[in-house]
Amino acid sequence: MTETTRRDEIAAGLAEVEATIAQACRAAGRAREELTLVAVSKTYPASDVRLLAALGVRDVGENRDQEASVKARECADLDLTWHFVGQLQTNKARSVVGYADVVHSVDRPRLVSALSHEAVRAGREVTCLVQVALDDDPGRGGARPVEVAALADALAAADGLRFGGVMAVAPLGEEPGRAFARLWEIAQAVRADHPGADVISAGMSGDLSEAVANGATHLRVGTALLGRRKPFVR
Ligand SMILES: *Cc1c(COP(=O)(O)O)cnc(C)c1O
Repeated sequence: MTETTRRDEIAAGLAEVEATIAQACRAAGRAREELTLVAVSKTYPASDVRLLAALGVRDVGENRDQEASVKARECADLDLTWHFVGQLQTNKARSVVGYADVVHSVDRPRLVSALSHEAVRAGREVTCLVQVALDDDPGRGGARPVEVAALADALAAADGLRFGGVMAVAPLGEEPGRAFARLWEIAQAVRADHPGADVISAGMSGDLSEAVANGATHLRVGTALLGRRKPFVR
């Protein structure tokens, strides 16, 4: 496929996503400026990130360090904001801190200390969100709601890190709006102790309207922008 065709394809995806966001904002009485669209580029090449950037997208998300670190390096000249949204092993903290501006997936104390250590070492400040499990499936990552306050306190106290707010993935088999309403409640409780932590990262291609309706500030959208990902073998 030629670059021109791919550019048109991505532009059409972006226009459709922006139309959905605009509609959801109207319905919820919110302003588009309250929302950050994070383009999740996992499995897609750096050339697609360039095309997104040329179309005005400034925030890019990735979920695997190995892929993300290479892509971020290839796109270093674009001055984008990189979001790490996947499950993170502590032994990847050094690498992730090298390029990520925001880590959405902090879900345990060990990760707080590892990220803090590496951020200090790199002389960087990394914004971190607590990922909340909205169901009881620990396999998908995320802290249980009762663990969120302690993780928030730990992030707020950690050198090199800034506590930014909360993130969640809507559980399978539940109406996403109901799940995102619980996330919103958790976010309000956290903000009582940490007023600056106003990020609510919720909503993907299939449920971004429900996320907007329930106070999301960051939408993580892959498929609707770049197309359906091919299944891959790790
Ligand atoms: C892949 C991914 C997304 C984007 O999902 P789409 O359904 O392709 O929009 C969002 N958040 C996380 C954590 C992801 O891993």
